[in-house]
Amino acid sequence: MKPAQFEYEAPTTIDEALDLLAEYGDECKVLAGGQSLVPLMNFRLARPARLIDLNGIDSLAHITVEDRGTFIGAMTRDSSLEHSAEIAASVPLLTEAVKWVGHSQIRNRGTVGGSVAHADPAAELGAAFAALEARFHVRSRRGDHVLGWREFFISEFTTALKGDELLVAIEVPPQAPRTGSSVVEFARRHGDFALGGAAVTVAVDSAGKCSQAVISLLAAGPAPTRAESAEAILRGASLNTPTIQAASAEAVKGLHPTGDIHGSTEYRVSLIQVMTERAITQAAERARSAL
Ligand code: FAD
Repeated sequence: MKPAQFEYEAPTTIDEALDLLAEYGDECKVLAGGQSLVPLMNFRLARPARLIDLNGIDSLAHITVEDRGTFIGAMTRDSSLEHSAEIAASVPLLTEAVKWVGHSQIRNRGTVGGSVAHADPAAELGAAFAALEARFHVRSRRGDHVLGWREFFISEFTTALKGDELLVAIEVPPQAPRTGSSVVEFARRHGDFALGGAAVTVAVDSAGKCSQAVISLLAAGPAPTRAESAEAILRGASLNTPTIQAASAEAVKGLHPTGDIHGSTEYRVSLIQVMTERAITQAAERARSAL
């Protein structure tokens, strides 16, 4: 298949890209790693009149760890995130999550910004950023603003980004001491999108009790889904098996993931419960090992 005809622009600065976006808006699409957009264009499910290629804008690809948080440029390749020693030290949840994204060839081209802007409900990075209370830095000729993950992700394949806006970076706040994290998912074949999973962080106090808990579910609904009532069960409790099982059962209450040939709704709910239990158990072990 070949895409419909389009004009091609290759800006080398963010300002040039913003000018093009301001001029062409909804007529155009930005091209990041192309791992989702190009197949969509080839199947003619997307027909942008103009492509604005971000690959020449070096300033969009960076990883910066500061005391106030970690900043990841939108054009950072998944593979750069995966192999970053700074990310492994500051936000190990991201290192673990990104390894689940497709295959190494996909991660070599695919970008962090492209993944979240594409907003596939089964995308690992979306669930990880929801677990990390990430903030999304958005820029356009109308101004800059920062969106929390709840405002950024609207529904499947839909974010709050407007046609003239560029996602420039994602900010992850610093983690509490004695935090452990884990990402667990199940897919039919390695590299496939997950049928269900969970990204979890837990922090423990000096006595080993849970002081903070975050459970973000993968492929559980149209957008990244936080299991807040299950998080409340963990907070203040000892992270033992009965408590973890109770929280995992609570996490899937009211979920209704869409069933398809890969798995019914009931199967997916049960899968998410098991993946959640495993992720909490592993995150708790990792948090305790920091005591
Ligand atoms: P592109 O395809 O270039 O763009 C995607 C969309 O985001 C486009 O609409 C584009 O206009 C927009 N966009 C990109 N950057 C910006 C920006 N800075 N500002 C505003 N809008 C922007 N993903 C997973 O999460 N898990 C998987 O298991 C997985 N498996 C895969 C397996 C295969 C075989 C393939 C081909 C892909 C898979 N993916 C998976 C998708 C992959 O992660 C893509 O890389 C990702 O979804 C899109 O990133 P990209 O950089 O390629 O973006």
